[in-house]
Amino acid sequence: MPTAEFLQKPLQFLKGVGPRRASDFARANLVNVEDLLCRLPVRYENRGQVAPIASIREGQKRTLVGEVLNCTLRPTRRSGFRIFEVLLGDDSGAIRAVWLNQPFLKDVICVRQRIVLYGLVEVRRGGGGLQLTNPKYEIVQNETSTEITDDVVEGGMIHTGRIVPVYEKIGSLTPKIQRRLVYDVLRDLPKELSDSLPEEICGRLSLPSRRQAFLRTHFPRNGTSLDLLNEYHTPAQVRMIFEEFFLFQLGVQLGRRQMSLETKATMIQVDDRIRDSARRVLPFKLTSGQRNALKEIVDDMQRGRPMNRLLQGDVGSGKTIVALLAGLVAIENGLQVVFMAPTEILAEQHERYLRRLLKQSKLQVVALTGSTPTPLRRKILASIASGEAKFVVGTHALVQENVTFRSLGLVVIDEQHRFGVAQRSTLRQKGHHPDVLVMTATPIPRTLSLTAYGDLDVSAIRDVPPGRLPIKTQMYSDSERENIYEAVRKELRKGRQAYIIYPLVEESEKIDLKAATEMAEYLSNAVFPEQRVGLLHGRMHQDLKDDVMGGFSRGAYDVLVSTSVVEVGVDVPNASVMVIEHAERFGLSQLHQLRGRVGRSSHQSYCYLFYKSPVSDQARARLDVLTQTTDGFLIAEQDLRLRGPGDFFGTRQSGMPMFSVGDLLRDQAIMEKAYHEALALMKSGAITPNLEEDSKAIWKKRYGLVGVG
Ligand code: ADP
Ligand code: MG
Repeated sequence: MPTAEFLQKPLQFLKGVGPRRASDFARANLVNVEDLLCRLPVRYENRGQVAPIASIREGQKRTLVGEVLNCTLRPTRRSGFRIFEVLLGDDSGAIRAVWLNQPFLKDVICVRQRIVLYGLVEVRRGGGGLQLTNPKYEIVQNETSTEITDDVVEGGMIHTGRIVPVYEKIGSLTPKIQRRLVYDVLRDLPKELSDSLPEEICGRLSLPSRRQAFLRTHFPRNGTSLDLLNEYHTPAQVRMIFEEFFLFQLGVQLGRRQMSLETKATMIQVDDRIRDSARRVLPFKLTSGQRNALKEIVDDMQRGRPMNRLLQGDVGSGKTIVALLAGLVAIENGLQVVFMAPTEILAEQHERYLRRLLKQSKLQVVALTGSTPTPLRRKILASIASGEAKFVVGTHALVQENVTFRSLGLVVIDEQHRFGVAQRSTLRQKGHHPDVLVMTATPIPRTLSLTAYGDLDVSAIRDVPPGRLPIKTQMYSDSERENIYEAVRKELRKGRQAYIIYPLVEESEKIDLKAATEMAEYLSNAVFPEQRVGLLHGRMHQDLKDDVMGGFSRGAYDVLVSTSVVEVGVDVPNASVMVIEHAERFGLSQLHQLRGRVGRSSHQSYCYLFYKSPVSDQARARLDVLTQTTDGFLIAEQDLRLRGPGDFFGTRQSGMPMFSVGDLLRDQAIMEKAYHEALALMKSGAITPNLEEDSKAIWKKRYGLVGVG
């Protein structure tokens, strides 16, 4: 059977798999033979060294081979609960093995059979010597060893007597059933298996062939280091992980190559007139981090091919002004700029900010969000199409909508750690080949940025505007509430403002909103009677939301009680207190973002985290990290460690690709290697059409993307 056909065979058609098991497999996204082989065991056990029965001691995990001398199924005092007991003997002695509540074994194991047992050696209760309880077992059949002539298995045993793979149980599919299936597939694996990895790379990195990698990943040779296996570091495992990462990175690079072939409609130029007009709107001196980032961006904009750049900078580092200045450059060149924000609140804020700074310049700023009323929307769309509107601010929903620009030159995507490679490629396909600037405050660890932003060049702002003091962060239980309120009042009396945040989770949205609303009332009447308290949540009417957020921003409210709708981007420099209720319910990066709403001026800022006991260890760990550091990079790394890469980015829609073999946390070094190898291969021009096809096909299938190549 040709290779491709063999690997694409649906699991349902394997011997021993029917529709039921196939649907169990499908639940774990395993559909064909290749899927099965590309799924690594969750761990490995060494059931390899056969010990003489007389040599074993309590507490050891041992593999024993011998003859069944006796077996009985006996009842216990609990009705229906029976114990199957076997006496196993070898040349050195004998031992008992018992299986609880598995009476069917009487039809499987019988006297004079040779069997292999693997399990923990225990002392029999009542002092009757040693025994194995519920050991793994395998019957050594004579035909087994003749059946296997391939190099798959040594010694003819699958479940014992060797290092065995342990797979995650899926529904009715026990690890044992899966092991048998994988074994059967490997036994039939074609001798010539096609291999996408270039030979040169395999040779240089000492990676085995694809075929060998499949065999040794699932059925390692005896003598392979168990530690290495369980760290997924054997050559066979590394080869499988590398292959997945490499083809991914190659796809990213192919996408980049494609983009570099695009040319912009308008060449951007920067002269003194443009520099002057930028200087005129600037309300302060840029930090050196901001200056460098702006230079890198504007350099890109002046090139003939579209910019694809990520601007990274921790919360409060001042990314907005950099994007605004870049936008001015585009506009002065006769182009339009779109500024996209993840929330309506943020879009409105950007609109206010742009209007304020551009007041003198007469440039038209328009805002478009999901709740813009239809007549107004029509007018705005017309002004965008005519080119009259220069700065267009809107929510990301805008991307999907039918907005036509006259001459779109720059797309700014703000706060978008959830805007992945896939979404960006859709945006580019809007056709204009505009420059794209993505901004994020989530300073993700390097391996992840290679993955999430592999298609982007990166600029980073590492400093913060002058005069900023580290935010003082502490956590409190409910009993300390009064003291904290007093501390908040003290700040308010100095003229500062405060946020009080309530968690809102979808499942209990109604209850949570009620809690936030009632709390706002209570706080307004009983706790801060002298101060003006505003309430903000996502379910409010847009006009009201604007009134409240705009009001807080102008200082018309002293306290803003809000759900996490203010989580990203909101900028009210006079606010110096952040109180977070039920802090244990928030994720670490989310807490960091929320806290980042304060500390945006030279005033000392405070963050108070209220938690409700009992707090899980995980939640406790999160809060501890937050109180100990304000460094976004450290926090992101800790968050990743605490949650794993999947959750770190929120959801599957996060734009983060899902890998089936590799693990972004465990296999960082391999990702790094894959990135460099893919880059080098593209640079050398030695990529073969076959490999290009493979990589594109895999991208399409695994990452569901259209925009590559
Ligand atoms: P973020 O990077 O989190 O988006 P913003 O762009 O919202 O940060 O900037 C945070 C605050 O710092 C804003 O109030 C902004 O006006 C102010 N700011 C930005 N750059 C400077 C600077 N160089 N000097 C003083 N204040 C600045
Ligand atoms: Mg921002």
